Amino acid sequence: MNQLIRCKTCDQVFMKGPYDAYPEYEVAPNYSSENFRRIERDDFQNFLSDHDGHQLESLKIIEDSYVSEKAYSEPIKVSFFKATNGRERFVVKKFRERIDEPLKYQLIFGDYSLKCVTIEIQSAEISKQLEDELKPPLSPEKIEAFVKLYGDVVQGFALEDLERIPEESRHPLEVYYKIDDVHLVYLLRKCRSLFKGQEYLAMEEFIHRHKDDGVLLLKATYNIELVEVAKPEKRTIPVFQPLEKEKVLWKK
Ligand SMILES: [Zn+2]
Repeated sequence: MNQLIRCKTCDQVFMKGPYDAYPEYEVAPNYSSENFRRIERDDFQNFLSDHDGHQLESLKIIEDSYVSEKAYSEPIKVSFFKATNGRERFVVKKFRERIDEPLKYQLIFGDYSLKCVTIEIQSAEISKQLEDELKPPLSPEKIEAFVKLYGDVVQGFALEDLERIPEESRHPLEVYYKIDDVHLVYLLRKCRSLFKGQEYLAMEEFIHRHKDDGVLLLKATYNIELVEVAKPEKRTIPVFQPLEKEKVLWKK
C-alpha cells in the first residue's frame, strides 16, 4: 500500500510505496525487487532527515479523484489527485520530466475540475470507414457531403443532450457520446436528399452500425482546470475550552 506523507512545515509530500515511484519498464534484468526497496528506503530516509524536527502527517488519497493528461501507460505525464488530512483537502501533482527519473509529487493548495473544451465528429474516421465498408464505393464527393451533413446535424449540441458511452477511452481526457434518437431520425431524413435507392439503404445500415460504438460517436475533449489558492493562514485564534481548563488549574 502506498502512503502519502506531508511535511506540515515545508508543504512537501513523499509517496511511500515502491509500486508507483519506479514503474516496471525501468527495471533492468539484473534489477531485483530488493534493489528497488533499498532505493525507496533510502529516498524515505532522505526525506525524513531533510525534514528532521518538522511536523509530519499522513494524508489519505481521495478515491476516484485521479485525473491525468495522458494515458496510464505513458511514462512522462502530469497527473493530479486529491488528498486529505481529515480537516483540509489538497491537490497533489504527480509528474516526471524524464523517463529515467522517479516520479515527483508536489502539494498544491486549491482544487481542479474537468471542463469540456470541444465536441466534434470523427471526420477522418468516418471517411475512412465509408471508404472501407461501402460496396459499391461512394464517390469522394459523397463521402465529403455526408461528413459535412453529419457535422451540421450535431452542430450546437450540448453535453446534457448526449449519452455518454460507458467504455473507457484510450485517452483519459477524451469521452465519447452517442447522438439521441431525435437527431438520428433527422440525420436519416437529411440523407434521403443525398443518397438514392440502394445507396441510401447502404448508408442507413452504416449509420445504424456505427451510431452506438463506432465512428459516428461524438468526441468530447476535456481540460484539467487547476485553480491554485494561497496557503490558508494558520489559525491563531485561541480555542476556548483549553483556556477554561487552564484557569481552573491555576486556581488550585
Ligand atoms: Zn519539512
